[in-house]
Amino acid sequence: MKGKPVSEVLPHPDLKILLSDINNPLPQNEITFEDGRVLSAQCTPIPRIGVAITMQDITYLKQIDRLKNEFVHTVSHDLRSPLTAILGYVDLLDRVGPVNDQQREFIRRVQNSVQSITSLVNDLLELGRIEAGFDTQKEVVPLEGIVRDTLETLGGQISDKKMNLHLNLPMDIPQMRGNPIRLRQMLDNLIGNAIKYTPEGGEITIDVEAQNDQVILRISDTGPGIPPADQLHIFEKFYRASNVPKGVGGSGLGLSIVKSIVENHQGRIWVESLLGQGSAFTVVLPLYKQAVAQPA
Ligand code: ADP
Repeated sequence: MKGKPVSEVLPHPDLKILLSDINNPLPQNEITFEDGRVLSAQCTPIPRIGVAITMQDITYLKQIDRLKNEFVHTVSHDLRSPLTAILGYVDLLDRVGPVNDQQREFIRRVQNSVQSITSLVNDLLELGRIEAGFDTQKEVVPLEGIVRDTLETLGGQISDKKMNLHLNLPMDIPQMRGNPIRLRQMLDNLIGNAIKYTPEGGEITIDVEAQNDQVILRISDTGPGIPPADQLHIFEKFYRASNVPKGVGGSGLGLSIVKSIVENHQGRIWVESLLGQGSAFTVVLPLYKQAVAQPA
């Protein structure tokens, strides 16, 4: 084997991808074998020698994760029908007889609560689908169009809150390969959060730029910012920062959904934020050329 190229010696395609660019190896990757074992491989470049790969068997962690996901999926799924029934009957209440003002107020509160549980359940089901990698179909997508569509939908909320939107979106952003529905969902969540957390009259800036073989998207706002200790956790499920303004609702699932989408597109996401000054979420996604590159 000595003297042969690595790609000839290593039979596994995931390992070949891991080492496809030897000068710039991916730091970490999961390698799945046909018998179901999953190994986590970490690459460490050693100057003038090459690259060391350390592998750890994470099969049992993957199994626990799968069981947990299945449980969450089943519960969420089973909750949907009773929730729809509750909402349906509550909606009917004032049609079958007169209700007084206090009863009407109680009905409104029940409707609001059922709607928030429903959206939580839907988010959980969505997250389950994304994490399970069900929708891996990718196509060539014009990112520029997706950004514009998102802004068209959210434009009403931006003007309701009298916010200023700054958009730096060059027309010549190269295309990327991705799932348009998921990319749209990613932008909806990130821009939606910027609108939701930034007080009236604030500023939202969206910068999109292509650099080498990747596209960089940055969504910044002049909102309350995120305390440094919370920044480490906001991409975890159900996590909400300690300074969420009173009355601003949410399930803490949006950014987990965003992170899973970004990772399914082989991208990276991070946040930079200063308390009291604002937050900036940066997403880096590979452009078309790199995304379709297959190992030899
Ligand atoms: P939520 O449903 O609470 O909005 P997310 O997962 O979307 O859940 O966000 C997690 C937490 O990160 C939020 O609860 C909030 O504390 C913080 N966060 C996210 N985006 C922003 C933002 N643009 N400005 C300030 N805080 C934010």
